[in-house]
Amino acid sequence: MKILKKLQRQNTIKNQLRRGHVSITFIISLFIFIPTLFIEYQQTIKHQNEEMANYLDAQTYFFESWLTERSRDIHTIANLDFVRSYNYEKSQTFFQDFKEQTDFADLIFVNKEGIIQFDTVTEYRRNGTGFDVNDRQYFQVAKETKQPYITDIIISKVTKQPIIAFASPILNEEQQFNGVVFGTVNLLTITQLLHESRVGFLGHAYILNQDGILLTQFESNKNKKSTNEHNEDMFRQNYMIDEHILMAAQDQSTQSLTIYKDSKGEWVLAKNKPINQGKWYIISEVDIWEAYSPLIKRFVLLAVCILLGTFYTIKIMLLITKSIEEPIQQLLKGVGKVEQGHYDYKINEQQLAPYAKEFQELCSSFNEMSVKVKEDTILLRELSITCQLTKLYNRRYLIEQGEHAFHECVKEENHCSCIAIDIDFFKKVNDTYGHLIGDEVLKHVAKLITESVRSIDIVTRYGGEEFVILLPTTTLESAEKIAESIRKNVEDHPYNMADQFIEITVSIGIAEYMTARDISTFYELIDRADQALYIAKERGRNQLSVYVSTDNLAQR
Ligand code: GH3
Ligand code: MG
Ligand code: MG
Repeated sequence: MKILKKLQRQNTIKNQLRRGHVSITFIISLFIFIPTLFIEYQQTIKHQNEEMANYLDAQTYFFESWLTERSRDIHTIANLDFVRSYNYEKSQTFFQDFKEQTDFADLIFVNKEGIIQFDTVTEYRRNGTGFDVNDRQYFQVAKETKQPYITDIIISKVTKQPIIAFASPILNEEQQFNGVVFGTVNLLTITQLLHESRVGFLGHAYILNQDGILLTQFESNKNKKSTNEHNEDMFRQNYMIDEHILMAAQDQSTQSLTIYKDSKGEWVLAKNKPINQGKWYIISEVDIWEAYSPLIKRFVLLAVCILLGTFYTIKIMLLITKSIEEPIQQLLKGVGKVEQGHYDYKINEQQLAPYAKEFQELCSSFNEMSVKVKEDTILLRELSITCQLTKLYNRRYLIEQGEHAFHECVKEENHCSCIAIDIDFFKKVNDTYGHLIGDEVLKHVAKLITESVRSIDIVTRYGGEEFVILLPTTTLESAEKIAESIRKNVEDHPYNMADQFIEITVSIGIAEYMTARDISTFYELIDRADQALYIAKERGRNQLSVYVSTDNLAQR
């Protein structure tokens, strides 16, 4: 019940308008906000994808060129005359000079048995007791195919560091395999190359091989133990990338961006591209918050704009609501006043001047209506309490006002008298002269009675040809005098009907209220006057009779 009442209280125009306005503003905001955000999101992703694709294209081009150039370098060296002729002294000097000018970490000469003869880093004896690289794939490929070869990542037997090697066979004059020249590049160099070529790119990039081993130095493996010497297991442990990242790289089915947690456990947007004939992947990653930061900025800006817009819209809506609510309140107040009986209540039109024209029209219509209601109410009231023939008050008025006057007398301990008058043999008048003349006679008698009473007395046509007069604060003695003057006045003034005089007499009963012990209600007083009137009739009419007591009526 309480909730229902609360809801009803809340169900005002003001609250309904407010709720409506807030809902509309919210819905409009939502319809702007969600599509805008969706479009912005799509654009951000598209832009990021393009940017990363451009970066990867540039990197791939750069690396592929670099790999070709280094491979060509080694091929050229392997074909130099003094190399082919095993001129160690000249070759060693050349190797040293060449190494200084290029990205190679080491240049190594291997004889056809697979034994390192010399390199540019370590001092080896020229008698061929260096490391045996017979088991190395690059040696075998160079021997079998007589073609240059680029290795995957391997641990150098010379430096014990992870490297990649560019190998090229040395062929003798008969074009037979006669050894291998190979150059090593360590991972730091590849890392530097990758960093040098990252113009205008905000994320980070690295290169992986098919096994998920990093070819470039990476943030997450910087902290891992770095020792001067590596074995295969240690190397794998330190340079292995997380499996899910490798899987994402190997999945070449999607051209769009992938989202995953990077090696540091942070969410990134990633894209990759295979290089070196698909042996490696170059991967670029951008921190997701960095990638989405333009989107977040736009989102915040849009949200602030919408909030401000909503705030001012609601403010304007509230003003509009007020301009509707205020005049309605004024009208409601007016209707309430009329309901309480203040029929002449008028709404101040001046106060409604600032509001809508319709309200002003409504207000002036209300005011005109209240004037009309007032006039009609007065007329109705008059009609309801007046006898239209005699213009005297009727029985209803006597009951309303008489009772009030009687109780005033009781309260003030005053006397109060009542006179009941009945025209004698009035039926005969009607029968002799007709009903219309009878009416005229009634009017004539009413006029004579009115002339005989005081202004405080309430004269009423009680019914038919009977009149009752209430005389507040009047003793029986005074009432008798007034009654006698009425009786005499009627007797002395016959009705003049075209010089034919119709004699009329009245019988009168009088009663008095003296103490509450005697009479307690106004009706008893009327009844007593009526009983006295009955006695006057019985005694022969045209006379007064006074009610004295129940047992002893009309002694006088
Ligand atoms: P009594 O002396 O006993 O009062 O005799 P009465 O003839 O006056 O009394 P009765 O009650 O027999 O008749 C009253 C008549 O008054 C009857 C009725 O037709 C008439 N009368 C009542 N009201 C009107 C009225 O408004 N106009 C006219 N013309 N006659 C009325
Ligand atoms: Mg009569
Ligand atoms: Mg009568």
